[in-house]
Amino acid sequence: MGEFDLIRRYFSPPTRHTRLAGGDDAALIVPTHGSELAVSTDLLVAEQHFFVDMAPERLGHKAAAVNLSDMAAMGATPRWVVLGVVLPRIDELWLATFSHGFHQLLVRHDVDWVGGDTTAGPLALAVTVMGEVPQGQALRRSAARAGDDIWVSGTLGDAALGLDCRLGRCALPDAARTLVLDRFELPEPRVELGEALRGLAHAAIDLSDGLLADLNHLLCASQVGAILELASLPVSIAQPGTGQDDDWRRRVLQGGEDYELCFTAEPRHRAAISVLSARLGLPLNRIGKVTPDAAQRELRDAQGRAVPLAWQGFDHFRAYP
Ligand code: ADP
Ligand code: MG
Repeated sequence: MGEFDLIRRYFSPPTRHTRLAGGDDAALIVPTHGSELAVSTDLLVAEQHFFVDMAPERLGHKAAAVNLSDMAAMGATPRWVVLGVVLPRIDELWLATFSHGFHQLLVRHDVDWVGGDTTAGPLALAVTVMGEVPQGQALRRSAARAGDDIWVSGTLGDAALGLDCRLGRCALPDAARTLVLDRFELPEPRVELGEALRGLAHAAIDLSDGLLADLNHLLCASQVGAILELASLPVSIAQPGTGQDDDWRRRVLQGGEDYELCFTAEPRHRAAISVLSARLGLPLNRIGKVTPDAAQRELRDAQGRAVPLAWQGFDHFRAYP
């Protein structure tokens, strides 16, 4: 099988709202009148970002999910994706299952897969997603204001626990192990939440590098500070230990890849956010406050004592001077 058969068979599913998709030199899309286009891209390199022996269907899901998550964090509705893929060889079973996992998540969110590029080389994926947001309504990182509540969706630290399991660094009961491996490999992009937060939240970010690091980005962009309450951080029943343990803190506060949304909103919206949480069946928890002091990064335990922890996250180039 050659490159073009491969693309036709595995990378060209039908589209639903695209003027011209794969097969030409470029796709043609028609944005909705009155909306802005949100565009984001993510690279996933084998061994850097995922294990090569990861089930291809799960890899496909995750590649799509991390991109849809960026749309959610902007309050945008994801609409179109483009997939660049570098493949070491043609393995039809791998391609069929990868493509299925990638496409299934897109179908669930009514996103069209409109094109891409395919070449031979060491396994890597580049996904670009385009979404739409009504003019002026995108949730920017820079829009947090002093006095806002800080909220987070879902639970924190499950993906880091899943990674720990993958690396053989922790023993969990089977049900908990399955839960956290799924959280690590099959993240659920919070698209409906992002859309619903338009007009309700000031600023938002998705949690790819850990709560402290990602919230730090948002605070820096908004030139504000924050006080977080350790006791308010939501964790799943699978998470062993307590806020007193170093491993718990590393996973819950600094662990990456949960792909939950962290957002800020005025206190007057608390009731509306609770209603939204119930409607989506997704926990939304208030974990702290935005403060006017741009240098403040405070984490408090239940007794009100400061917990010293780094608010910096992973930097791909820091290890390579
Ligand atoms: P060109 O040589 O003009 O760059 P290509 O031969 O790379 O065109 O691609 C041919 C068609 O196949 C294009 O429409 C492109 O969008 C589509 N395509 C290639 N790779 C992928 C992919 N991984 N996913 C979806 N469509 C793809
Ligand atoms: Mg090309």
